[in-house]
Amino acid sequence: MKIENHILTGDDIAQRETPNRGGPITPEFLVFHFTAGRSAQSSINWLCDVRARASAHIVIGRDGAITQLAPFNIKTWHAGRSHWQGRSGLNNHSIGIELDNAGRLTKVGNVHKAWFQDVYPESEVLHARHKLDAEPAFWHTFTPEQIGRATALAEELTAVYDLKDIIGHDDIAPDRKRDPGPAFPLENIRARVLGRHEDVEELFEVTANFLNIRKGPGVEFGKVADALPAGTKVALLETRNRWSKIDVQQENDIEGWVFNKYLKAIPE
Ligand SMILES: [Zn+2]
Repeated sequence: MKIENHILTGDDIAQRETPNRGGPITPEFLVFHFTAGRSAQSSINWLCDVRARASAHIVIGRDGAITQLAPFNIKTWHAGRSHWQGRSGLNNHSIGIELDNAGRLTKVGNVHKAWFQDVYPESEVLHARHKLDAEPAFWHTFTPEQIGRATALAEELTAVYDLKDIIGHDDIAPDRKRDPGPAFPLENIRARVLGRHEDVEELFEVTANFLNIRKGPGVEFGKVADALPAGTKVALLETRNRWSKIDVQQENDIEGWVFNKYLKAIPE
C-alpha cells in the first residue's frame, strides 16, 4: 500500500467520502478503535451518515479490506473528548482507524452476545481483563487479516506523517472508552512500528483440533510437518487472502502456511 496526496492506494482499498469531517490537520498520533458493529459495511454506512456525528479515516473489515472515508490531513470525528501527551481534543491531531469488531460481549447461557444481539462462536471470543478494569470480560477477537493490515498501515502512516505515538481510544479517553481493548495487539504494533523493541512478533494460538501447515497459501501445497494441535502458539510472519505464513513457537525451524480461520490472537 502507498499514500499519495493523503489518499491510500493498493490492493483491497476503497474510497468513500464521509460528510462528517472538519478542516485540515497535521496528524501526530494514530488512534485505533473497534466499531462495536455488526459488519464493516454497516459501520461504514453509519460513519458516512450525517446523523452519526462521527467518522474515522479508515475502516478495516474482518477480511482485511480497507475503506478510506477522508484524506489523512482532514479532521474526522473519532476521538471525542480526549487527552494525550499534552494535547486535548485528539480529532485535531490524529488519524483514526476503526476495526470491524463486535466489541465487548456478554455471556448468556452458552453463547456470547454483542450489544446488538448477534451471537459469536467460542473461537472468536477472548476472555481477558482490560488494562483499565479490575475484572475480566468477554471480547470479540480480531482476525489475522485485520491485524496484518493494521500493522502495515501503521508502518506506512508513521513513515509518511512522522507520527509520535500509536494509541487506543481507551488510552486517550479512559473514563469512557474501552476500544480497541485487550483482544487487539496494540503494544506489539506500537513496538514494531515505532521501533521501541526488536523482534516483536504477533502471537496467535491454533483453535482447530489439528491444523495443517503447508508449503504455500493453498490446499494444493504439500504439508511441511504434522498438523498442529489446538493451543499451539505461532508467530504471524505474513498474511494473504485467507492464509497466513506462521512460525511455530515451540518447535525449531517450522514455518509454513495455515488457514487464518483457525488462528486466534493471544493478548500481550
Ligand atoms: Zn473508539
